[in-house]
This record gives sequence, structure tokens and C-alpha cells, in this order.
Amino acid sequence: AKEEGRNSIRFFVDEMDQEIQKRKEILEDIAVAIEENQFDLSFQPLINLRNDKMVAAESLIRWYHPVKGPISPAEFIPIAEQSNSINDIGRWVVKKVCEYIKEMDKLRLPQITMALNISPAQFRRENVYQSVSRIVESEKVSPRRIECEITESAVMDDMERAIEIMHGFKQSGFKLSIDDFGTGYSSLSYLKQFPINKIKIDRSFIADIENDEDSASIAKSIINLGHSMNLEVLAEGVENEAQQNWLIEHQCDLMQGYYRAKPMPFDQFVEWIGDNC
Ligand code: C2E
Ligand code: CA
Ligand code: CA
Ligand code: CA
Repeated sequence: AKEEGRNSIRFFVDEMDQEIQKRKEILEDIAVAIEENQFDLSFQPLINLRNDKMVAAESLIRWYHPVKGPISPAEFIPIAEQSNSINDIGRWVVKKVCEYIKEMDKLRLPQITMALNISPAQFRRENVYQSVSRIVESEKVSPRRIECEITESAVMDDMERAIEIMHGFKQSGFKLSIDDFGTGYSSLSYLKQFPINKIKIDRSFIADIENDEDSASIAKSIINLGHSMNLEVLAEGVENEAQQNWLIEHQCDLMQGYYRAKPMPFDQFVEWIGDNC
């Protein structure tokens, strides 16, 4: 048994070494990835449940690694967040979104809002308002075309500062939404002070909404809370018709999810608009 214990410790240490090694590799690869254009953005439509029209699209980063193949943002963003490379990625995303907005205008597509994700680490570390608005200005894109998604937990860290940064965005014309809402325990009194347009109900509450009473009652209270503060409420991760029907019935404003459209590379997104709008 002693021998076995020693072996499992050995195994555990090896695993940890591998984990550390992997992180190190990813961080090194991110630096190269920006230079060598390995990142791209995919776009997923946000749909108004009242008239079935697309009102916006969320941009989601994609990494096509030349050797390792596609790497999910759920894997590399948390690693990037532990170093400065999250700021490089963040700036890259803003510039790229601006380029795609201009590309859409050239193609004479509807002038929808493009949402982008701001990482909690970016929010904490730099003056993210200055950094984003500087890029958008130099790209000559109107801030009104851009919506910044901030997670509830990022805002909770330091509320006073968060509110100040949010006001910066708001005053320049950016739209703001709170992402993954319901997972960060924001105090409701603060929510009132956030100059935001929208809350996005985390997809964990939507996944089982048509069967699970707890999920349903949480979703219902978020919808009511949002409406009482004059905010739009969006449901994330809608995967089937039953969920969509539930949301329509309960007056949710917007939805996003595989049921209507998965995130798509730009060209495919443009085709989707052609077929659906
Ligand atoms: P998120 O911001 O909550 O983005 C929504 C995630 O849900 C995306 O995963 C999207 O592909 C996925 N999704 C959309 N509809 C459905 C559905 O119906 N069912 C399910 N199961 N999933 C759905 P993705 O693209 O893998 O991104 C994961 C997370 O990585 C994002 O979560 C966000 O936190 C982060 N991320 C992605 N792109 C960026 C970026 O450009 N910058 C930053 N800072 N973070 C990003
Ligand atoms: Ca998001
Ligand atoms: Ca989300
Ligand atoms: Ca999420």
C-alpha cells in the first residue's frame, strides 16, 4: 500500500508538471499566434424574440493552431488571463471587430451591433475603457456599433471602479451588457447603478429550463428584475424549440444559441445573414 501511495504521488507530480508545461507552451504560442495571424473571430447572432430578427452578433475568438489544431477559448483565455497576454488578445479582438464592422458596411449588410467580450483580468488590470476607445477611434468606427460584454464577477471585484469605467464606455456611446448573469451574486442595489443596456442570463439556467423548476424560477426572476430596471434580457445557450417557446412565453427579449445559429466564421455569417435577414 505504501508503494501504491508513492506511485500515485509520483503520478500526481507528473501530471502537475505536465499542466505547468502546457500552460507555459500556450503562453509562448499566444505571442506567436498574434504575429502570425492564427486567431480569428466567429460570430453568433442575437435574436429578438418578439419579431425573430437578428439585432446583434457576439464575436467569439477562435485559435487555429498550425500544429495543435483548433484550441478553445475556454482553454486558452483563462491561461492568458494569468499574464499580460490577455491585454494583447483584448486589443487584437477590438481591432478585428472594427475591421469586420467596416467589412459588413462595405457589403451593405444591416448595421447591427457587434458584441465583444472583455475579460475580467483586462477589466482589473488596465484602464480598459481607454484602451478600447482608443482603438475604436483610430479605426474610425462609431462606438454605437459596439457592445462590450463584462462578466458579473469582474464587476463585483471592485464596484466603485467598475462603475466609473462603465460610465466611460456609456458616455462615449458604447453599449454594455453583463455576461453570465446569475453566477456572480451581484447585489441588486449595485445593479441599479450600472449604466448597462442588457443582462445575459447564464446558459446554466437555460439548459434545463423546460423541465427544472429551480432553473425556471431563477430565469423568471432575472427577467422580471431586468425589466423592472428597464434592461433588455437575453437568454444564452438556447438549444431547442421548447426552451425558445418557454422564453417567448415568459417575455424574455432576446436569445442566442445553437438552436438558431452556432458561432460562424465571418464568410459563413455573411451567408447566414443573406439566408435569414
Ligand atoms: P461566453 O462569453 O459566455 O460565450 C458563450 C459561449 O457559449 C461560447 O463558447 C459559445 O460558442 C457558446 N454557446 C453559444 N450558444 C450555445 C449553445 O446553444 N449551447 C452551448 N452549450 N454553448 C453555446 P466559446 O466560443 O467556446 O467561448 C467560451 C468562453 O470563452 C466565452 O464564454 C468567453 O468567456 C471566452 N471568450 C470567447 N471569446 C473571447 C474573446 O474574444 N475575448 C475574451 N476575453 N473571452 C472570450
Ligand atoms: Ca459573452
Ligand atoms: Ca456568457
Ligand atoms: Ca460563460
